[in-house]
Amino acid sequence: MTKSRTRIIDLLKMQAGVTVQAKGWVRTKRGNKNIAFIALNDGSTIHNVQIVCDMSVFTEEQLRPVTTGACIRVKGELVPSVGTQQSVEIKASEIEVYGTADPAVYPLQKKGHSMEFLREIAHLRPRTNTFGCIFRIRHAMAYAIHKYFNDNGFVYLHTPIITASDCEGAGAMFQVTTLDLKNPPKEKDNSIDYSKDFFGRQTSLTVSGQLEGELGALALGEIYTFGPTFRAENSNTPRHLAEFWMIEPEMAFYDIVDNMDLAEDFIKYLVKYALENCAADIGFLNNMIDKDLINRLEGVCDTEFVRLTYTEGIEILTASGQDFEYPVSWGVDLQSEHERYLVEKHFKRPVILTDYPKEIKAFYMKENPDGKTVRAMDILFPKIGEIIGGSQREENLETLRRRIVEMNMSEESLDWYLDTRRFGTAPHSGFGLGFERLLLFITGMANIRDVIPFPRTPKSAEF
Ligand code: ATP
Ligand code: MN
Repeated sequence: MTKSRTRIIDLLKMQAGVTVQAKGWVRTKRGNKNIAFIALNDGSTIHNVQIVCDMSVFTEEQLRPVTTGACIRVKGELVPSVGTQQSVEIKASEIEVYGTADPAVYPLQKKGHSMEFLREIAHLRPRTNTFGCIFRIRHAMAYAIHKYFNDNGFVYLHTPIITASDCEGAGAMFQVTTLDLKNPPKEKDNSIDYSKDFFGRQTSLTVSGQLEGELGALALGEIYTFGPTFRAENSNTPRHLAEFWMIEPEMAFYDIVDNMDLAEDFIKYLVKYALENCAADIGFLNNMIDKDLINRLEGVCDTEFVRLTYTEGIEILTASGQDFEYPVSWGVDLQSEHERYLVEKHFKRPVILTDYPKEIKAFYMKENPDGKTVRAMDILFPKIGEIIGGSQREENLETLRRRIVEMNMSEESLDWYLDTRRFGTAPHSGFGLGFERLLLFITGMANIRDVIPFPRTPKSAEF
């Protein structure tokens, strides 16, 4: 609650007649000898407040440093506005320049920069209209996620970021070490002696909080994690980051159908929350980025997701006659082109695909009686492909151990995890939602690098 200024979002809702003080960054300035107009933005809303400067009150000298990008303080009377979309504007009586932005070098002069250019100046892009919208929406979605789970009795469990478990082999991992890379301690066989490392063992950044999440669910009932995850894959696509945020609910006593029902309800809640609470920002993105955005968002709230098995999905894809880059047959992992064909061309709505071949899924997924498939479920979205991956977990100790052996994993290092099945095991399920994939959908942006403030991708980690 700062007393030294009124935020523009609040100021634009006030009645004319009061004296106000606004602080923010200049978007544009125009005018003539008699009058100047400044569009001021402070990040609280997509809307600018118009500042009117009567040039009998100010000298040209005073207004010269007020250029695009400069930071100023303005005091004045709030008066009814005729010329702008807003109902009020500020008739300035005082202007102080906090910081200038030399027009010869400030890079955000004109509107209409390409996303690629803005990515090169990612440290300044929050000052643009588009990225202001995106980061406000990102905040609102993070809040909505916590609200949804809190309202539904879930416990927010903090799973570790540095981990010694390589969760399911979900992805290649970034190693965490304090060893001297030029001269690491060696074992007799010349391999690295990790007992000398910081934790006395080899550790990495987590690829998923799920295994630890299961420990929580089998004690607390319903839990969720929401934190950064890391994958050291060389995936240069518009849908992959090396550091991304994931939401992972895990629920005791949920079967695969309960799991799908929760995921569908959750994602519809988030989309509705965005439409109701981020209307101005989404409206801007709809106009500037993607004219079909609001349509698509409303569409998701109103439609039931299609549910079908992987096997049925493969049948549709092979019967489609499409010339896919990666050919399809039963057993292959689906590529984004396949997922998007099902969603965008065939069903024209979100799809939940279930019962994948066990060979292409993780060891912990519950085996079906057919012995070939597991109770996995992926949710596929228009323009994105996979947005959620989840499953019912294998709760039977012996089946789980057999899977670990079949997949050449180390039973010993998973002993702590197997204890959940040894002692008081229970049916349970969970899923992972990629936060940035959700934001791609909600903002209509095309590249995942543009929905996270500081993207980390192969060969790129600025700031
Ligand atoms: P994909 O097949 O798209 O690479 P995945 O199957 O490896 O994803 P999971 O391990 O199932 O992904 O992770 C759960 C969710 O996390 C995914 O559904 C997706 O929304 C998100 N996700 C996975 N990898 C990334 C990534 N590299 N960058 C951003 N989000 C990701
Ligand atoms: Mn997945």
